[in-house]
Amino acid sequence: MSLFIEPKPGILDIALYEGGQSSLPGHVAPLKLSSNESPFGPPPSAVSAMAEAATMAHRYPNTDHASLRAAIGEVHGLDPRRIICGVGSDEIITLLCQAYAGPGDEVLYPEHGFGMYRISALAAGARPVTAPEVDRVVDTQAILDAVTPRTRLIFIANPANPTGTMLPLSAFEDLAAALPETCLLVLDGAYVEFAEGYDGGARLVEARDNVVMTRTFSKVYGLGGVRVGFGYAPRPVIEVLTRIRGPFNLSNIALAGAEAAVRDVKWVAEALRVNAAERARLTGGLRQLGIACDESHANFVLARFADEAEADAADAHLKSQGIIVRAPKSYGLPQCLRITVGRPQDNDRVLDALTAFRGVA
Ligand SMILES: *Cc1c(COP(=O)(O)O)cnc(C)c1O
Repeated sequence: MSLFIEPKPGILDIALYEGGQSSLPGHVAPLKLSSNESPFGPPPSAVSAMAEAATMAHRYPNTDHASLRAAIGEVHGLDPRRIICGVGSDEIITLLCQAYAGPGDEVLYPEHGFGMYRISALAAGARPVTAPEVDRVVDTQAILDAVTPRTRLIFIANPANPTGTMLPLSAFEDLAAALPETCLLVLDGAYVEFAEGYDGGARLVEARDNVVMTRTFSKVYGLGGVRVGFGYAPRPVIEVLTRIRGPFNLSNIALAGAEAAVRDVKWVAEALRVNAAERARLTGGLRQLGIACDESHANFVLARFADEAEADAADAHLKSQGIIVRAPKSYGLPQCLRITVGRPQDNDRVLDALTAFRGVA
């Protein structure tokens, strides 16, 4: 008997998402700097809150996430009514595509854009479209030039992954003002916290009806394994997304962990302080070794080698030293390695390994 049913068009075009590698044959405890995770682990306050929530595991979680939304609102100065919580910001990206883009529609993002945009667009039956960047920096004019009457969603991460570069808010104010009424601008704020003095576009969301911001607990908050993120959007968009969100998408445990983490302002401030200092040290150290590196506004740096072969050789050498970084080949950057900023001793290991690599290269 053969199977006659086929998936909807687009689904079989999806290449599986590749996460950062996490194990290394021959190394029991490799140094994992491949997924932009927090090198400090989860905040202890979040771990306690989750342990306590686990005693209520037999109860269904609440469906409105009111307590978490209130906490996010308080800490970040946001309106809780404009917040929707998801299973990572990935779910918010998915919900946006499911709600607004379908067959015949286009989903637009920059050349080196995050892999989930393509996956979510195809899963919704829409066509992914990319616009060129200029030297690894998003070009909002190129984005605007690529907009057609079929464009429904534009995803731009700022700061961007895997480049670490960012644009000033004014670029998005101008872009949002120039867009036709038939599409939404989504500012992916996975790395907003690491960019000092930048609100991720929150005020722009409040001022306009065509801008959405996404945020996550997976990076500075150290909860990538718990899967919590949120969207900040005009009320009409929230009302649409809420209709298709699973009512119990976030567990009791995830809700409790995220709420404790967002309220742990001191822990987060210390993580940010160390990241900024270490990011500068890693960037400087790479440049001293003759490895080019753009100024990063996130928790990783993108090391640029002469060509793909040299990047592969550096990657192999790092692996031989028990260090896993990310080769962003699928992002159109085969000559680069993306290195998550670790603790001071982690970054020492990276710089020592690359110094040895340069010595033999
Ligand atoms: C890490 C990352 C996310 C976060 O995904 P979660 O689902 O919240 O873990 C979103 N966008 C970009 C660009 C990222 O790098």
